[in-house]
Amino acid sequence: METIFDTIIIGGGPAGCAAAVYAGRAQLNALRIEMGFPGGQILNTNEVDNYPGIPARNGMDLANDLYEHSAKYGLEEKMEQALRIEDPEKPVKTVVTDMGSYRTRSVIVCSGAHHRVLGVPGEAKYTGRGVSYCATCDGGFYKDKVCLVVGGGDTAVSDALYLSKVCRKVYLAVRRGELRASGITAQAALHTENLEILWHTELLEVMGEMKVNRVRLIQNQTKKETEMAVDGVFIAVGIQPTNELLSEIARTDEGGFVYTDENMQTSIPGIFAAGDIRVKPLRQIITAASDGAVAVSGVMKYLR
Ligand code: NAP
Repeated sequence: METIFDTIIIGGGPAGCAAAVYAGRAQLNALRIEMGFPGGQILNTNEVDNYPGIPARNGMDLANDLYEHSAKYGLEEKMEQALRIEDPEKPVKTVVTDMGSYRTRSVIVCSGAHHRVLGVPGEAKYTGRGVSYCATCDGGFYKDKVCLVVGGGDTAVSDALYLSKVCRKVYLAVRRGELRASGITAQAALHTENLEILWHTELLEVMGEMKVNRVRLIQNQTKKETEMAVDGVFIAVGIQPTNELLSEIARTDEGGFVYTDENMQTSIPGIFAAGDIRVKPLRQIITAASDGAVAVSGVMKYLR
C-alpha cells in the first residue's frame, strides 16, 4: 500500500534540519526532500558567530553538524527537487518532485531564500567571469587582487571582511551613508586597513574583456561617475524567497515572502513554512531553527 507520510519537510537548511530533528524525535512518519548538499545559505558563510553555544564555527562545518544531527533519527530522505504541491487544500496532499511523487497529510516548506541580482549592465554577462554572489566560494580566485563588494548588509560586510584576508584591496560600495550590518561586523569593516568603504556609491556597470577588469560607479549625492579597475565584483544586495512551491497557492507579501501564523501554518491548512521563506522580522540561523521546531509542533496539532 502506498505510504501516506505524516509530514514532508522540503529543504535542508537550518529550518529543515531543525524540523527533521523535531519530527524524528516526535516519531512522525516523515520524509525530507533536499535537492543538494544540506545547509542552505550557511554553506556560503565563512564564519557563523551568533548561534548561542556555538561560537565561531565555519559555515560548512556547521551545515555538516546540522545535517548529521537531523539524520540521526532515521527519517526517510530523498535528494530530489520538489516541483509542486498538488491538492494543497485536501487532507492528503501530493508533493511532486523531478523523480516521483509522495503523498502526505502535511508539508513543511523550508526552501529558504537566495541572493538578489542588481540588474546592471554587464552583471549577467560576467557572472562566473569576475562577478560572483558568494565570497566564500569564489574568494580564493582573487588572491592579492582588487575586488569590489556591493551592499551594506551582513552578507556584504562579512564578504568584504573575508575578501580582505585574501585580496590586496577590497572596496565596499554602500548606497547610503551607513551600514545595515550588525554592530560587531560593521565595526570590524570600519577598522580593516585594506578595506575601503565607498559611501553613497552605486554600481552602474560591470565592464571587461574576457573577464571583468573595471566597473563604473556613481556617487549618488554628487552624481559624479567614475571608472575603477577591479578584478572581481561580489554582489550582496539582499535575498529573495525561494517560493516557487507556495507563490501560487499561499498568501505572500509583495516580496513573495510567505505569511504564516504563530504555528508556522500558511494560509492553507496543513501546509507550513519555516525559515527565511517566511514574512518575519529577523532572518538568522537561530530564528530559522526555531521556526522548524515550531512548525513540527504546529503539524502535530494539525494532525490531531
Ligand atoms: P540585507 O540585510 O537585506 O541587506 C541588503 C543590503 O544591500 C543593504 O545594505 C541594502 O541597502 C543593499 N542594497 C539593496 N538593494 C541595493 C541596490 N539596488 N543597490 C545597492 N545596494 C543595495 O541582506 P543580506 O545582507 O543578504 O542579509 C539577509 C539576511 O541574512 C539579514 O537578515 C541578515 O542579517 C542575515 N545575515 C546574517 C548573517 C550573520 O548574522 N552572520 C550573515 C549574513 C546574513 P540599504 O541598507 O540602503 O537598503
